[in-house]
Amino acid sequence: MNFTLIWEEALQNLEKRFKNTDSFFVFDTYIRFLKPQQEGDSSFYLLASDDIQKEMINERFFDVIKESVDEIISDRYGSGYDIDLYIQTSKEVEKHIKKEDDYSEQNMILNPYYTFENFIVGDSNRFAHAASMAVVDNPGTTYNPLFIYGGVGLGKTHLIQAIGNSILKKNPSAKIIYTTTESFINELIETIRRKTQEQFKRKYRSVDLFMMDDIQFIARSDSAKEELFHTFNTLHQAGKQIVISSDKPPAEIPNLEERLLSRFRWGILAKIDKPDYETRVAILREKLPYIKQITHTDFDVDDEVLHYIASKNDANIRDLEGALKKVILQALLYSTDKNIKTIDISITEEALSDFFNDSSKKAITPRYIINTVCSYFDISEDEITGKKKNKEIALPRQICMYFLRKECNVGFKAIGDMLGGRDHSTVMHACDKIKDQISTDIDIKNIINDIEQRIRE
Ligand code: ADP
Ligand code: MG
Repeated sequence: MNFTLIWEEALQNLEKRFKNTDSFFVFDTYIRFLKPQQEGDSSFYLLASDDIQKEMINERFFDVIKESVDEIISDRYGSGYDIDLYIQTSKEVEKHIKKEDDYSEQNMILNPYYTFENFIVGDSNRFAHAASMAVVDNPGTTYNPLFIYGGVGLGKTHLIQAIGNSILKKNPSAKIIYTTTESFINELIETIRRKTQEQFKRKYRSVDLFMMDDIQFIARSDSAKEELFHTFNTLHQAGKQIVISSDKPPAEIPNLEERLLSRFRWGILAKIDKPDYETRVAILREKLPYIKQITHTDFDVDDEVLHYIASKNDANIRDLEGALKKVILQALLYSTDKNIKTIDISITEEALSDFFNDSSKKAITPRYIINTVCSYFDISEDEITGKKKNKEIALPRQICMYFLRKECNVGFKAIGDMLGGRDHSTVMHACDKIKDQISTDIDIKNIINDIEQRIRE
C-alpha cells in the first residue's frame, strides 16, 4: 500500500467535501498541507507542522479524514484492511520511526526565517547577538569557538542559524554545516555501521563554518565526543569557524572531558537570558506578520493582546509564539459565524484559558501592578506618574518600580517611561533601595509582603 498515493486521492475527495462549506478554509490552510508518511502496511501518519494544528485537526476533523482514507483503501485494495491513522507532528513520528536511509545531509537545512533581521535584540541577548555578528564579520578569528548557551526556547537556534544564513549570503560558496547534536550522533552511529567513517570525517572536517546545536546531548555518546574533539581541532587549526549551542554552560554539561571543555574556553562564551517584558512584546510584534502569513489570515491584533501574552512571563519565546498562533487560530475558527476583523483581549483570554501551564495564575501585567500599588496606597495613577516628589507619592512610586521589575521583568528604561518619563538611573536606584530596605526596615518589608499578596490574589 502506498500511503502517499492514497492520501493524494483522499485529499481530492476531501476537497470536494469541504468545498462551499464553512470549514473550507481549514481544509485549504491545514489539511491540504499535512504530510503523509507510513510505517509498514498498516500505520499511516499525517504530519502537522505544530501541536496546535495537530490538536485542532484531531479534535474536529479526524473522523472525516479517516473515513475518506478508508474509502480510498477499500476502493483500491478491497475491503478487509484495517489501518491505523495518526495525526501527529513530525517530531513525534521521528521518534517512532527508525529511518534507514536518509540519515545524512538532512541536517544541513537552515531555516530561512532565522536571520539577524528577524532577531529582536534586548538586554537578555545583546551580547550573544553582538558576538554572533562579530563572527559573521570575521569568521574563524577572535571568537572561535562561539559558544552560546541559555534555556529552552530563548533563541539559540535562531541565532546560530542566523550566523549560517548571513555567512551564506555574504559568500554563497561557503561550505557550512548546521547539525543538531542528536543527528550528529545518529549519523555517526550509522557511519560506523556502514564503515564509512572516512567519508564522515571528510565531510565534517572540510567546512568553513561548523554549527552544532544543543551540544548538551553529546554526553550520550563517547564516540561522538571523540569525533567532535578531532573535528574541532582540525577546523580550529585551519582557522575555520565553530559555533556551538547548549542549554547550559560548558562546565555543567555532564560527562564532558576536560580536553573538550578547555577547547570551548578558547573562544567566547555568550549567555542568553530570559527576555524582559518589552523584549517579549517586541518579539511578538515581529512574529505577527509571519504568523499571519503561515496561517493565511489578516486580522488586526490589538496591542493589548501582545501585552497580555508577554505578561505570561515564565513562558519561553516558543511558548509565547505558540500562544499567539493559538489565538489567531481561535479567531479563525470563530470568524465563519461571527465576522471577526480584530482580535481583542476577550478572544485571547478564551483561546488561552488552558494554554499556559499555570493557567490558574492570572496574568500579571504592568498595568495590573500599577493599579494594585495605587489602590494599596490609595493614590491615583496620575499622581504616581506625576511630578510630585513628596514622600506619600515617592515611596509608592519606588515600590511600583520595584514590582514592575520583579514581577514583569520590565527593563529600567521602560519602567521610567511607564511612570511618567523618569530616568533609567532613577529607576535602577529605586529598585536597589527598596531591595535593601526589605532586609533592613520591617515596615517596608510588611508593605511589600502585603502588596505581593494582593498582586497574587
Ligand atoms: P532555542 O534554540 O534556544 O530553544 P529557538 O531559537 O528555537 O530557541 O527560538 C524559539 C522561537 O523563538 C523561534 O521561533 C525564534 O524565532 C523565536 N525567538 C527567540 N528569540 C528571539 C528574538 N530575540 N527575536 C525574534 N525571535 C526570537
Ligand atoms: Mg534550539
